[in-house]
Amino acid sequence: MKKRIGLLYGGKSAEHEVSLSTARAVTQALNFDEYDVFPIYITHEGEWRKGEQLMAPVDTIEQLQFNNASNQELPNNISSFLPSHQEKEEAALDVIFPLLHGPNGEDGTVQGLLEVLNLPYIGNGVLASSAGMDKVVMKQLFAIAGLKQVPFVHFIRKEWQKDQESLIGKMEKDLAWPVFVKPANLGSSVGISKASTREELIAAVEMALKYDRKIIVEQGIKAREVEMGVLGNDTPKCSVPGEIKPLKDFYDYQAKYKDGNTAMIIPADVTEEVEQTMQDNAIKAFKVLDCSGLVRADFFVTDEDEVLINEVNTLPGFTPFSMFPLLWQHTGVNYSELIDQLIELAIERHAEKQ
Ligand code: ATP
Ligand code: MG
Ligand code: MG
Ligand code: MG
Repeated sequence: MKKRIGLLYGGKSAEHEVSLSTARAVTQALNFDEYDVFPIYITHEGEWRKGEQLMAPVDTIEQLQFNNASNQELPNNISSFLPSHQEKEEAALDVIFPLLHGPNGEDGTVQGLLEVLNLPYIGNGVLASSAGMDKVVMKQLFAIAGLKQVPFVHFIRKEWQKDQESLIGKMEKDLAWPVFVKPANLGSSVGISKASTREELIAAVEMALKYDRKIIVEQGIKAREVEMGVLGNDTPKCSVPGEIKPLKDFYDYQAKYKDGNTAMIIPADVTEEVEQTMQDNAIKAFKVLDCSGLVRADFFVTDEDEVLINEVNTLPGFTPFSMFPLLWQHTGVNYSELIDQLIELAIERHAEKQ
């Protein structure tokens, strides 16, 4: 029997357009002889719309933005998505593929909704998604797993407002300049800045506080940025490593989505030892966050070949030109096969829970 796949895309986040391109690419990679494909679109305003079953790959992004408000079914009518006993064959989807990024996409909230609906879905569950979205929690868990990382300091808005001076003092004591100031719960480098002086630090914190009540300040490191894909559930596998070479000071939002001229070198030119350390650490990170399906683990590799973990991304960019699919392509798993494997992993994980 054909599997019924729900593509969930769009969303309120800054990455709405990226999500639409990903959804189009996924329809082009899916084998329509094996899958029935159902689009579920979240508008910029956060309205959920269920479209007609797709009978063929989608050519234009506009085709994915059905604007007929009568198609709106969620969350006003969530029960229409719940498989009922009599009509299970008709109503149920076999797997949802959340092609969303950022808050409400990769932070565990949508994953929680899908859990409540008892729908299998691709990728990480609630715990891994939310722990991976909060850089402070993530780094605390990495520390427990014994993973090397840059020193960091964290605080919430109220603490900053109450005693800015002593927090700055702590940072000056624990960290060396320059530092990277980040909202704890974001991605795509939004709200991140580099600060080399006290004045820049204050401005950077004020800016980051516009995005989040929790801030992390990390020691800056001069290093190459090398990433690795992880795929699997209980026995995850690693891809070859890939290096990103931003043509700017750091890999900021502009470099990621606007300039499009960041070089990716796959496989990265690293020693066998560095690659092995990255693999071991990527798996440790995957396990300590209790990940499933996929993650992209991002590392810093210093001139002395020291490997430090920066973060994992639980729903990494997934266009055919994004790092994660390219890493797997170079490891011998093409885009269509990657999607097939993710679907199998989602069904396997769901079955184990029952
Ligand atoms: P994404 O999820 O899109 O990968 P993000 O918003 O989670 O990004 P980070 O990956 O933590 O953000 O940081 C963005 C970029 O900033 C990094 O790719 C790197 O270029 C630079 N950067 C971040 N932290 C540091 C650091 N401690 N030292 C040096 N550079 C850093
Ligand atoms: Mg990230
Ligand atoms: Mg991200
Ligand atoms: Mg990153």
